[in-house]
Amino acid sequence: MKKTSIFLIFGLLVSCAQIQQSSTGLELTQVTETVYAAIGATEAPSLENRGHNNNLSVILTADGVVVVNGGDNYQLAADLHTSIKQLTNLPVIWVINENGQGHAFLGNCYWRQQGIPIIAHEAAIHEIESNGTATLDNMIRRNGPQLAVNTCVALPEHAFSGQYQLPIPARQIMLLTFGDAHSPGDISVWLPDEQVLITGDIAFHERLPGVFPDTHVRSWIASFDKMTALPANIIVPGHGHPTGWADIRATTRDYLQYLVDQSESILNNDGDLSAAYQIDQSAYSHLNTFTELAVKNAGRIFQQIELEYFE
Ligand SMILES: [Zn+2]
Repeated sequence: MKKTSIFLIFGLLVSCAQIQQSSTGLELTQVTETVYAAIGATEAPSLENRGHNNNLSVILTADGVVVVNGGDNYQLAADLHTSIKQLTNLPVIWVINENGQGHAFLGNCYWRQQGIPIIAHEAAIHEIESNGTATLDNMIRRNGPQLAVNTCVALPEHAFSGQYQLPIPARQIMLLTFGDAHSPGDISVWLPDEQVLITGDIAFHERLPGVFPDTHVRSWIASFDKMTALPANIIVPGHGHPTGWADIRATTRDYLQYLVDQSESILNNDGDLSAAYQIDQSAYSHLNTFTELAVKNAGRIFQQIELEYFE
């Protein structure tokens, strides 16, 4: 019995060590001279994609490296760090969480262990405080326990609201909020010197946006419109490859507006939720996650618009 437990403990240690050693790095796509992004899969997070279904960006400054997003799990964060070390000798000096969703913050544990400060919008931190454990449980259910090794809920210790300039002498890096959008505490990162905008989950590309019960669709559209005042030349969306305004407008803003317009027209004709589920979304069927999200999105947006009719 004793032997078995020692063997089991040894077995666990070996499997942890193997997971640690498997940190092979993530492919970094160069966006500009100083910006790189590990482009996530445009599908649901899974064991196959290592939970890497959103963009993890890397900004080089003379003072060190700024990382946008903690990543979906400890191991993914370690993989990103491996890639950064292959790119530069500069240390990582800040980690930014784009919101309070799992793929933004669940890798924080890794960065915390490295002693790197983590920052997020105060609403994102509140979201992690309230729902972080449930988010971690969901991640384990979705990806399996293999990807959960060492992953924990680590709160960003730096909070801001409105806008905030990272205290880095070498480079102006602005954290911006435009109002409610996809989920609580959504922020974008703006690099005025290179006119690069890392939008966070305010903008999707190559896959359908996800509308959640706490997503305010009209606010999201308004926030998106505010964001477009920035003179950005290159956009790194929350999901999908780097692109320009036209693509993210079509896939995000115009898609949401289409579902709002269709919902209004159903309500004006005394239609109900069942009609919302039938809204013709075929113009967007080429996008990834369409099958999983299209009908849900229509239902959630319809229900929000329907409430306005009772105000
Ligand atoms: Zn996202």
